[in-house]
Amino acid sequence: MKNQIAGKVSKIETMGLVDGPGVRTVVFLQGCPLRCLYCHNPEMQETFGKSDSYQAKDIVKIVKRYLPYYKKEGGVTFSGGEPLLQKEFLLETLKECKKEGINTCLDTSGIGSGYEEILDYVDLVILDVKACDKDLYNYITGGDFSLFLKFLETCQRKGKKMWLRQVIVPGINDNEESVKTLKKFASTLKNIQRIELLPYHSMAKEKYKQLGRNYPLAKTPEMDKKRCEELEKLLK
Ligand code: SF4
Repeated sequence: MKNQIAGKVSKIETMGLVDGPGVRTVVFLQGCPLRCLYCHNPEMQETFGKSDSYQAKDIVKIVKRYLPYYKKEGGVTFSGGEPLLQKEFLLETLKECKKEGINTCLDTSGIGSGYEEILDYVDLVILDVKACDKDLYNYITGGDFSLFLKFLETCQRKGKKMWLRQVIVPGINDNEESVKTLKKFASTLKNIQRIELLPYHSMAKEKYKQLGRNYPLAKTPEMDKKRCEELEKLLK
C-alpha cells in the first residue's frame, strides 16, 4: 500500500450544525494565505502553526464514527485556515470519504491552485465572498481578487452546488448598498442554494493577544445581529 500524505490539522469538531447541511464533522486544516481583518482563527493562519499530523485514513476513521448522525444530509466539512492550501492531503481525504459514501463540503475562501480534481469530490462548496470588488477585497484580505474569481468560475463551470457567505463588519460593509451589490453578484451565478450574512464578532481578540499580534479591528464594534438579519432579508 502506498504511503499516505500527512496533513496538518488544527482541530476537528464533531456534531457541527452550521458548516453545511445536517450534522457534520468539521476538519480544520492548518494554514491560510490570506490575512482577513476579522479572522477569528488567527492561530490557523501560519502553515507551521500548532497542528496535529493526520493521514487520510485517520480522518475517515473519525468521520465514520458519527455516521449514524449524518442521516441524508450530513457528512464531513473541510474548513480552515484555507483547506485548499493542503491540496494533496485534501484530495486524498476527499477521495477516501467519497469511497465510503460520505457527503463532503468544502468551506473555502477559494484561494489555492490545483483544485480542479478536488472539486470533483466535493458535494457542496461554501464560499466566503469577502467582497465583490477588487479594492475592498484586497483591503479586507490582503489577497488577490482575481484568484477568488478564478476559483468561482471553476466551480460554476463544473456545476458545483454552492452556498455563499459574507461577514458583515460595521463601517466596512454593513449597509444596504453593499448587500445589494452582493445580491447582484450572486444573481449572475448558478447553483447558489443559499446566501448567508454573518455578523462580525470580536471573540478572537484574546487569541491575537496570545499570539503577540495586534488585533486589526480593535476599534470596530461588533455587528448588531438584528441589523445583520435585516440586511439578510434584502437578499431574498
Ligand atoms: S480566509 Fe479565513 S482563515 Fe484565512 S485569514 Fe481569512 S478568515 Fe482567517
